[in-house]
Amino acid sequence: MSDTATYKNAAKVLTGTVVGFTGSPTSGQVSEQDVLHIEKGAIAVNADGRIAWIGAAGELPEQYENAERHDYQGQYLMAGFIDAHVHFPQYRMPAAPGKSLMEWLSKYTFPEEIQYGDEAFAQRAATVFLRELFRNGTTSALTFATVHSVSVDALFEAASEFNMAMVSGKTMMDRMAPEGLTDTPEESYAQSQSLIDNWHKKGRARYAVTPRFAVTSTEEQLRFAGELLKANPSVLMQTHLSESPGEIATVEELFPDAQDYTDVYARFGLLTDRSIFAHGIHLSEREYQRIHDAGASIIHCPTSNNFLGSGLFDLPATKKAARPIAVGLATDIGAGTSYSMLATMAEAYKVAMLKGYALPAFEAYYLATLANAQILRIDDETGSLAVGKYADIIVVNPRATPILEHRQQLSGSLESSLFACMILGDDRLISATYVAGNIVHQID
Ligand SMILES: [Zn+2]
Repeated sequence: MSDTATYKNAAKVLTGTVVGFTGSPTSGQVSEQDVLHIEKGAIAVNADGRIAWIGAAGELPEQYENAERHDYQGQYLMAGFIDAHVHFPQYRMPAAPGKSLMEWLSKYTFPEEIQYGDEAFAQRAATVFLRELFRNGTTSALTFATVHSVSVDALFEAASEFNMAMVSGKTMMDRMAPEGLTDTPEESYAQSQSLIDNWHKKGRARYAVTPRFAVTSTEEQLRFAGELLKANPSVLMQTHLSESPGEIATVEELFPDAQDYTDVYARFGLLTDRSIFAHGIHLSEREYQRIHDAGASIIHCPTSNNFLGSGLFDLPATKKAARPIAVGLATDIGAGTSYSMLATMAEAYKVAMLKGYALPAFEAYYLATLANAQILRIDDETGSLAVGKYADIIVVNPRATPILEHRQQLSGSLESSLFACMILGDDRLISATYVAGNIVHQID
């Protein structure tokens, strides 16, 4: 803080309405004191890309007076969204009309993913994918790559150019997939370990061991995945769990000795507090209990679940006081139908309503930001607006479209205004996106 000359050259001050949320990771509850709301607010960002100060614009410390000003009056300055389950090699796949998960995978997904063995193709795709995230206000993600190591390299390289927090891993898949898209247990172990050595904790990159799901991995490969997780105590594990009835029936056939789908992962050391399961729609009480006991997390992907007809995620069931489970929110592109976390929150609201729960707006925003950061274990650097964290900030225009302009006339509170943004929102609301203090997207 001694060299104020640095600030004059590179620091920024963003002004607008500052809005932020903290909350409880296991209940999702956001109480009044968890909401940060400064009507005429300012955020000062240091040259290192981190938030240096947050407060009322009128109280901006003197040292930032000559810093570059970015004025967003009448708009919300919020923490960037985090997408906690997304497949980067499926970036151009939304709207592939598979009739079920298994058909969708074989008919559309696998032929597309095969192309990522080509390094140049993967690099081009990574650039397009990141631009689409930024356009939608997403500043971090937990991402599946393909079975090819070069696809992971391409994504981490592209993300590192923006100093973006990215968690990813090479998909492990040794059966029930076409040639060119499978590895062996030994290869998957060696390649994953080498990617961990090259990328994990390099800058803002983090690694997740990534067996696609129990259907496409033999017992031996799942055992190797469990060993990888054990050998690397700070990496995460991501996979799919209990997405569709057809998939669950296949898992039962493939693992006749397992108690249930969750038990398949538990048997191989993959049910841990670093385990992140996408979907978890059709879980039994025993499975909820085991997921709770392990401290594992479930990621809700509502647009994907609705598009593939997979089922309705039971958000209230995860809140049971005796065994609460940490839940995150995600697009699951390419089965998901929108890159927008606002649109994803709208769909989550509708699915929750069908399960008898009116998801509060503050809770939805919390899920899409800090709750996801906590699950990804990057909450020390992103997921909320706090001094010392990276300035992963989005500017949300609550009047971005004609219908929102009209609807906001009826908004008597911050919650009502944010609810309208999420129900009627998409990429058009994201006026600007900052990653580590640098502007990476802007609507002219
Ligand atoms: Zn998925």
